[in-house]
Amino acid sequence: MKDEADAGEADVIVIGGGIAGVSAAYQVSKERRVLLLERESQLAHHTTGRSAALYLVSEGGAVAQRLALASHGFFSSPPPELVDAPILETRGVVMVGPEPWQGRIRQMAKDGQELDPTIRLLDETEIMKLVPVLRPEFAAIGMYEPGAAVVDVMGLHQAFVRGARANGARVERYQDVTSIEWRKDRWHVGTDRANWIGGVVVNAAGAWGDVIGRLAGARPVDLTPMRRTAFTVSVDADTSGWPFVHIDSDDGPCYFKPEAGNQLMCSPADEIVSQPCDARPEELDIAIGIERINNATTLGIRGIRTSWAGLRSFVPDRSPVLGWDDQAPNFCWMVGQGGFGITTSEASGRAVASVVTGVPLPTDLSRLGLTKEHLAPRR
Ligand SMILES: Cc1cc2nc3c(=O)[nH]c(=O)nc-3n(C[C@H](O)[C@H](O)[C@H](O)COP(=O)(O)OP(=O)(O)OC[C@H]3O[C@@H](n4cnc5c(N)ncnc54)[C@H](O)[C@@H]3O)c2cc1C
Repeated sequence: MKDEADAGEADVIVIGGGIAGVSAAYQVSKERRVLLLERESQLAHHTTGRSAALYLVSEGGAVAQRLALASHGFFSSPPPELVDAPILETRGVVMVGPEPWQGRIRQMAKDGQELDPTIRLLDETEIMKLVPVLRPEFAAIGMYEPGAAVVDVMGLHQAFVRGARANGARVERYQDVTSIEWRKDRWHVGTDRANWIGGVVVNAAGAWGDVIGRLAGARPVDLTPMRRTAFTVSVDADTSGWPFVHIDSDDGPCYFKPEAGNQLMCSPADEIVSQPCDARPEELDIAIGIERINNATTLGIRGIRTSWAGLRSFVPDRSPVLGWDDQAPNFCWMVGQGGFGITTSEASGRAVASVVTGVPLPTDLSRLGLTKEHLAPRR
């Protein structure tokens, strides 16, 4: 921590400017003075800027699925002053697999239907009509979520930033948090450039969640960052009407998403345990992704256009952690968003705001059966 005088004070200091941090900053700043600290020059530089940008409710586990459902209202009709264009573009998602995967796909459809009655099973003929390049043996059965949508992630992120700033929140980039100390009932947060004071800390540091927790003397939540690889390819097919396609098979999973200009965004859906870092794609993982997609389709992919990787971070039960630490005072966790941090972001921000301001969970969340205990670090 620098010796200089304190650079500023706030009721709540949010650490991390990815989708989680800005969503919390937007909601908390409706009631409290908020300061958001981000290490990088750009707010969404890490996982948030590297996702597949899909909104869906059929995956992620019971808690994330409910947070996704509760976020849909904002995504489909955001406050007009916060956005320049629609956030969602409905595309649908189809999850397919050969015969041995029938049980899993049926179960997903059954669980998903409880939240979204439009989710249904597809047979081979219906699947082949939607995605004609699939090999029929990989399309024995499918789960279809017609309401799944592509998210304008940068538009959504910007909406939360605009909303937070309009509420008076301060956003500071180039602030690498290196110390967090509780002194005289206040948090003293030191970065490589300045000292800040706050009553509450919200830890939205993504893959670095446990690093930040340890700095504050909080109890670690066993967060594991896992690398996921993505790449784009040009294909010789009209992809304009295709849904997002996820394939499970004995080869391992993979997915592809149609993009403009007959391009596909693809992934081997890998989960490679990593340290928190600026993740980079490995050639081997790209090759695995190409092989899996070629095995399951007639696309015949040979080369890629671009590639990247990002860290999806999970705690052991793979459910998001949104709540007070039981060891460090006034320290609120907002981590473990895994592969659903975009989808769940809006409701997660509201849930964190209810924790920080000490009011009950928003009623739409409690009506879905969620409680603060479901979200808390020690559940
Ligand atoms: C390939 C891929 C596909 C995905 N697809 C989807 C999808 O289709 N749908 C979906 O909902 N989700 C998807 N995800 C997951 C989603 O992207 C994440 O859940 C989400 O972005 C996590 O957001 P975050 O704000 O927690 O983390 P991040 O975006 O990583 O933000 C954390 C921030 O904290 C900052 N920080 C860390 N330490 C410090 C420090 N010491 N001081 C200051 N700042 C610090 C970092 O710089 C970073 O900006 C995908 C992820 C990947 C990698």
